[in-house]
Amino acid sequence: MHPQIDVIVSELIKRKKFVFLCTNALLLPKKLDKFKPSPYFAWVVHIDGLRERHDESVCKDGVFDEAVAAIKLAKSRGFKVNTNTTVFNTDTPADGHRRPHLPERRPRHRRMQISPAYAYEKARTRSTSSAWRRPGKLFRKTFADGRRKKWRLNHTPLFLDFLEGKTDFGCTAWGIPSYSLLGWQKPCYLMSDGYVKTYKELIETTDWDSYGRGKDPRCANCMAHCGYEPSAVLATMGSLRETIRAARGN
Ligand code: SF4
Repeated sequence: MHPQIDVIVSELIKRKKFVFLCTNALLLPKKLDKFKPSPYFAWVVHIDGLRERHDESVCKDGVFDEAVAAIKLAKSRGFKVNTNTTVFNTDTPADGHRRPHLPERRPRHRRMQISPAYAYEKARTRSTSSAWRRPGKLFRKTFADGRRKKWRLNHTPLFLDFLEGKTDFGCTAWGIPSYSLLGWQKPCYLMSDGYVKTYKELIETTDWDSYGRGKDPRCANCMAHCGYEPSAVLATMGSLRETIRAARGN
């Protein structure tokens, strides 16, 4: 919806920054001509499941079909297209088992990102209104019997271990910061404890030690990628064994 999003993307690509442009894909067909395929660029289309599950999640019928059509169109024009899926506490392992069969999953160069929904107090939907009880169990069952390897997931193995409850981390919210017209959001895009003008100010004026599970009640049930994928990346880079494992993609 940003009127200059194509300019922002092309300027970032010129600087050799990787751009993952997240979208529900509804405006994608109209805007596609403004973008060019690049090794530095991928669309990331929000897809929460197959037709019924996705349309329920976004509270509008027909959005799944529009998103799939937009994915096919972008692929036909040579763009890389990934997907981003929020997993809710009402999902079952069976919902997860169906996800790898999404249309964008089949071709090569397509990757999925997943994140547990952030259960915040003001959420009124059935999907996010209650806390995660045993997310580890859900992810363990979803990935059981070697199924994890069948998913083309764009995550470090350690983050997936974290989702399955096999390991634990503190939050590294500064690793995936949020910047908008309001400025840099403190401490992460899920919570808003104010905005500052620069990244330096964000890093230097945020009390990072006061956030994370066990520290701030609002973080109690958070396992979101924005806080914990950076933790997994740091742990991976600190271990030769994990670095090799990540390079192998398992
Ligand atoms: S745990 Fe980290 S990412 Fe999650 S809400 Fe708290 S600060 Fe944000």
